[in-house]
Amino acid sequence: MADEADRAAQEVESQTAEAIRVASRDIQPGVPGECELCGEWSGRLIGGVCAPCRDKYKLP
Ligand SMILES: [Zn+2]
Repeated sequence: MADEADRAAQEVESQTAEAIRVASRDIQPGVPGECELCGEWSGRLIGGVCAPCRDKYKLP
């Protein structure tokens, strides 16, 4: 059945998309330093901004 093959293909596609999402989250550079927005020291800045500021300013 073609339907079955389509479903299988979609399954693989969604797994691949999920794997890419997980991988790209993992390569987010978390570096220690001072936040560019609040000036607080953070052990894990993403793009120079600490987690609380990313939440506050709705940054990714
Ligand atoms: Zn901050």
